[in-house]
Amino acid sequence: MARHRPVCIQCCIEMKPEKNDVLVVDHRMLTSEEPEPEKQLLCEAWSADLWQCPKCGNSIVQGFGQKSLAYTEEGIKQEIEIYKSMGSPVISNYEYRGGG
Ligand SMILES: [Zn+2]
Repeated sequence: MARHRPVCIQCCIEMKPEKNDVLVVDHRMLTSEEPEPEKQLLCEAWSADLWQCPKCGNSIVQGFGQKSLAYTEEGIKQEIEIYKSMGSPVISNYEYRGGG
């Protein structure tokens, strides 16, 4: 089933696919019970697509794969090296504990 393209709410137009197969690296924030509170650890790595608004340049990542590419620190670091060597973007996703 075809999916609708993302819409930029600033410009009220559809975003364009900027790059397929970028790497998104999820991080997990250590809790206050752990040795280094608020330190962000590598958690999981995913392939996804980068979309950009052709007018304002705002960009988002969506279209994640069904399964992650890696979920160990070693595996994630390998994926980061592979994507960097291909010249593909590596995007960090940090855990946020603020509101919302
Ligand atoms: Zn826009």
